Amino acid sequence: MTCDLTNPIFTDEAAATAHLEAGRWPNGAACPLCGSDNVTKMGGKTQAGMFQCNGCRDKFTVRTGTIWERSHIPLHKWVLASHLMASSKKGIPAHQLHRMLGITYKSAWFMAHRIREAMAPATPERIGGPAKIVEVDETELAPSRKTRKPKARANNKKFVALVERGGRVRSKMLTGAEGPIGNGVRRVLALNLHPESAMHTDGAPFYKFAGVSASHEAVNHDKQFMRMTPDRIKVHTNSAEGYFSLFKRGLVGTYQHMSEQHLHRYLAEFDFRMNNRARLGVSDAERASRILKGAGGKRLTYHQPN
Ligand SMILES: [Zn+2]
Repeated sequence: MTCDLTNPIFTDEAAATAHLEAGRWPNGAACPLCGSDNVTKMGGKTQAGMFQCNGCRDKFTVRTGTIWERSHIPLHKWVLASHLMASSKKGIPAHQLHRMLGITYKSAWFMAHRIREAMAPATPERIGGPAKIVEVDETELAPSRKTRKPKARANNKKFVALVERGGRVRSKMLTGAEGPIGNGVRRVLALNLHPESAMHTDGAPFYKFAGVSASHEAVNHDKQFMRMTPDRIKVHTNSAEGYFSLFKRGLVGTYQHMSEQHLHRYLAEFDFRMNNRARLGVSDAERASRILKGAGGKRLTYHQPN
C-alpha cells in the first residue's frame, strides 16, 4: 500500500507543509504573485509556512494561488483527502471524508469538489492521434427506476466519452442546449478528438455525419457487439461501455446524492483516475502527487453544497 497512513504528511501540519512546498517548488520557493525567487522564509509559531518576497514585498504561503487558499482546513487533511481520492477506484463520498477527517460534512463536500477541480487537466490535449483507435459512445444517467421510463428520460443527463483503446479518456456532458443529441456529440468531438484518429462507434446515425476523424467504423449493436474489418481490426465500443459501467457503479455506490449541476466535476474525477491508472504506469503515490501539483491556479468560487 503506497498510501501509508502513518506517514506524518497525513497527520502533522509542518510535515504536510514541507511536502507541498517541495512538490510546488522543487527548486526553492518562488513568489506566486510576482514570480521572484528572491524570497525569505519567515519563522516562529505565528509565521510558520510564511515567506516574504523581496521583489514585491508581499507575503505568501504554499496555499497562495491554489485550491487551498481561503480554506481553514489544515494542509495535512488536504493531503490525506487527496491521497484517499486518488487511490480509491470508485471515489470517496463526502460523508466518509467528513467522518475520516473529523471535519463538517459541508467542509468535506467543498474539499472534495476542490480536489476534483485539481484533477481536471489544465490544458487538455486531444484524445487519439494518427493510427490510434478512439471509441466514442454516449450514455444517459437514470438515477432511479422512475427516470428510466420513456417520458421522464428527456430530463436525464447525458454524456459522451472518448476512449482511446489502451490509452486516455475524456468524458463530457451534453447539455441539450445544442438541440438533438447528435449536435452536442459533434461539438464535443470537434473540440476533443484528434482529427487523425480512427473512430469506432455503435450504429447511431449521427456518428455517420460527424466528419471529425480520419476514418469511422461502426458496429450495429442490434446484430453484433464486435466485428472484424478486412485488415483484422476489431470494431467495438467495449472500452467505452466498460468506462460507463465503472462510472455508474461509482455513482450508485458512492455518490447517491450527486447533484447534476456538478456532474462535470465527477466526470473529471473519473477521467483523472482512468488517465493516471496503474496500467499506464502511475502508482497511487504518483497519482496523488499529480493532484497536489494540479492544485495551483484553480480556486473555486461557488459556495452552496447540495
Ligand atoms: Zn513577489
